[in-house]
Amino acid sequence: MNEQRVKKVVIAGGGTAGWCTAAALSKLIGPLLDITLVESEDIGTVGVGESTIPTVRTFHRFLGIDEREVMRATNATFKLGISFENWAREQDQYFHAFGTIGRSPWMADFHHIWLQARADGYGGDLGDYCLELQAAKAGRFQTSEKATINYAYHLDAGLYGQFLRKLSEANGVRRIEGKIARVEQDAKSGFLTGLVMDSGATIEGDLFIDCTGFRGLLIEQTLKTGWDDWSHWLPTDRALAVQTDSVGTIMPYTRAIAHDAGWRWRIPLQSRVGNGLVYCSQYLSEEDARTRLLGALDAPPLFDPRLIPYSTGRRKMSWNKNCVALGLSSGFIEPLESTSIHLFQIGVTRLVQMFPFSGITQALTDRYNQAARAELERVRDFVILHYKATERDDSAFWHDRHNMSVPDTLAARIELFREKAYAYQAPDDLFRVDSWVQVLLGQRIEPRGWHGVGKLMPREDAVRGLEGLKGSIAKAVAAMPPHDHFLAQYCPMKDVV
Ligand code: FAD
Repeated sequence: MNEQRVKKVVIAGGGTAGWCTAAALSKLIGPLLDITLVESEDIGTVGVGESTIPTVRTFHRFLGIDEREVMRATNATFKLGISFENWAREQDQYFHAFGTIGRSPWMADFHHIWLQARADGYGGDLGDYCLELQAAKAGRFQTSEKATINYAYHLDAGLYGQFLRKLSEANGVRRIEGKIARVEQDAKSGFLTGLVMDSGATIEGDLFIDCTGFRGLLIEQTLKTGWDDWSHWLPTDRALAVQTDSVGTIMPYTRAIAHDAGWRWRIPLQSRVGNGLVYCSQYLSEEDARTRLLGALDAPPLFDPRLIPYSTGRRKMSWNKNCVALGLSSGFIEPLESTSIHLFQIGVTRLVQMFPFSGITQALTDRYNQAARAELERVRDFVILHYKATERDDSAFWHDRHNMSVPDTLAARIELFREKAYAYQAPDDLFRVDSWVQVLLGQRIEPRGWHGVGKLMPREDAVRGLEGLKGSIAKAVAAMPPHDHFLAQYCPMKDVV
């Protein structure tokens, strides 16, 4: 057997990305590795990133993480989707819920049947056929061994990091606190050899994971990997974040409320509510953004809103030489669809699958980069869709979004849906057909034609079938307890037990 050439793994950074990476590597292939994580308490973490998508549960399952335990530790709530408000038009509202919609025959997705029904004057809303959407609207939730409801979490990012740290340290990860002063490279190959700390100590490694956030200390500042800028498609570049105490009913969804130069999030945890204003500095000043955010809060802020500047784009390579960038260091797509945590969790899962035990080769890094690139581009397209497909013309920001050119891949998708109502999940797509359909229709892309499957059935049978489907969903939702009641018995916060 080959001698193992990559054994010493050094993770630079202890934000959510760093500790997720440490937890995954130590739990899944830890016995074969020697893992060190370096973080600086002085520098701290970005401190946001509290809304997730359902793949987080798969990641937890791989790591043997108990759901109640992680939810209790992070004051988490359940998330069934996102409520988009004011996007295609002011006063519009639609959900992007996580569930499947209706029952699809093999020849066409369910929305084709619904489009035919709507044209024939019956069928109600498409959302009537989605359990998760109806439960979200009603503020109800229940999960059990048998239930097939699809969900994610809202969680406290700081507490999530601490939870993962505990797990990682229990699995043998060594943590070093301190500031990395510089990064050493092999003069010939350019491979990284060690992190030199402020203290003068050097931490040597075979493989380095850059989780240093927007700085990209290893992947960019040292390796000069390069950056693909996507800000012409996604031009928001600032967020102001603030928290309030928890007020009102805890609803199981994130709110994304558009304003005239971006949007605002509202993320309910058990302990508090996370609020943020995402905006584009070209169209809105920081002072106005601050006033706008504070004016929209439904309780007093717990501190002054914190400004987080960012730019949208990606590193030209996630894996360069012996450095893999995960998290903000690898790129960033604004948080509209809560995809960042997923992207580094899938990134580290891929790294586990492709771990270079017997050495790093070009073919391996090429394949890793290809997969990461393709997935990110599909996520990018999905997020751009929300901006491009708007009828808003009430501000320069929305006027410019509506008139901007988009990637060809997205333009083709929009056209296909507009012409034929076809939506698809490509192999690289994170988002399923139902996600694309909800956002395409929610953003008022109206199909001109659709599959004829809905005409095959006699009208009475079709009406009966649809009513039955709707009825069974309504009945299932009515049987669920209110979301906050369920939380209180399933995973109450530690300090209120
Ligand atoms: P950071 O949290 O910045 O961590 C960087 C780490 O590197 C820190 O530990 C720091 O101390 C360390 N470090 C840096 N330099 C040095 C040095 N010289 N020496 C030692 N240590 C160093 N994602 C979602 O999935 N859902 C969301 O709802 C969501 N909302 C977001 C909202 C906003 C406004 C932004 C900006 C991001 C959001 N994200 C969201 C993304 C999410 O916050 C990040 O992906 C996640 O927090 C991971 O960040 P990170 O660990 O890569 O970086």
